[in-house]
Amino acid sequence: MVTANAAKQLIQHYVDNFRRLPWRSPPGERPPNLYRVWLSEVMLQQTTVATVRPRFERFVQRWPTIESLAAASDEAILSEWAGLGYYARARNLIACAREVARRGSFPTTAAGLRELPGIGAYTSAAIAAIAFGEKAPAIDTNVERVISRLHGLKRPVRAEIERLLLDMMPDDHPGDLVQAMMDLGATICRPKNPRCVECPLHADCAAFASGTAEAFPERRRRSARPHKYGVAYWIERGGSVWLVRRPSKGLLGGMAALPGGEWTRSVPDRVNAIGAVRHVFTHFELDLHLVPRAEPEGDGWWQPLDRLSEAGLPTLYRKAAEAVLANNDRLAA
Ligand code: SF4
Repeated sequence: MVTANAAKQLIQHYVDNFRRLPWRSPPGERPPNLYRVWLSEVMLQQTTVATVRPRFERFVQRWPTIESLAAASDEAILSEWAGLGYYARARNLIACAREVARRGSFPTTAAGLRELPGIGAYTSAAIAAIAFGEKAPAIDTNVERVISRLHGLKRPVRAEIERLLLDMMPDDHPGDLVQAMMDLGATICRPKNPRCVECPLHADCAAFASGTAEAFPERRRRSARPHKYGVAYWIERGGSVWLVRRPSKGLLGGMAALPGGEWTRSVPDRVNAIGAVRHVFTHFELDLHLVPRAEPEGDGWWQPLDRLSEAGLPTLYRKAAEAVLANNDRLAA
């Protein structure tokens, strides 16, 4: 029975190699604090454990409970989030914390969790399995890859993956299997060069037996990202730079930013830039040109350059500021 044996091996491997993370309980023990599970799952969406870990620690030190987070200002939370990317997540995090605080507690099922802002199918299932012991199929790309390889599926269908995952989940602590699967996908059953000889599943794995483990599942072709262009203004006076806050809706909504124009598909005319950065968003790539201006643009504030790191700039604008400042240093040298 491939599934039962594989599940047993995988959980044993997890028990032996458990990674201590501030949002986890050791295998078999009481589930961790729900606020921590939720916060970590939201932070980990599209972001690595190594990046999230120190940021998570800072977050829970500053806001140890969901009530304290719900009571914090948008600006404070968005600044703390700066650099983690995907800012829609931060706005959903705020909305979710306030909704849970209003209700008095989190819902206790995957279906209930899904009604909250920013909690989709994967996150609701992962939280429910880890925190409530619900046999909920938490399927991200790591889990999909491991199951596809284990069963030799080239073009897996979601419902099939779900069924195969549910078949592997034990009644006791199903969250341990979810976390074991996540760890295996991240560290051993990697997209490229899977480390099959170290894998607890290799005796049962169809992809390994085929000798071409990496070929499972077939890669979906990604269409090339469209390219956009934009201009941001560098307005510097007396050792400070003028910053604004972006509109609350849309990309980087509510985040601190350099003022500037719309981002469009057309290549800008000659702009006499003092710097430029390329930044890759999920759906497009942006070339942002930095142009000097003398007078402040829009509602904003003067941010001292020696305290720029405290402004909560997202990565795009942090890179842009670094490009200008490096250019200034070069010219001064
Ligand atoms: Fe992945 Fe290889 Fe393990 Fe199969 S044996 S699950 S392909 S790492």
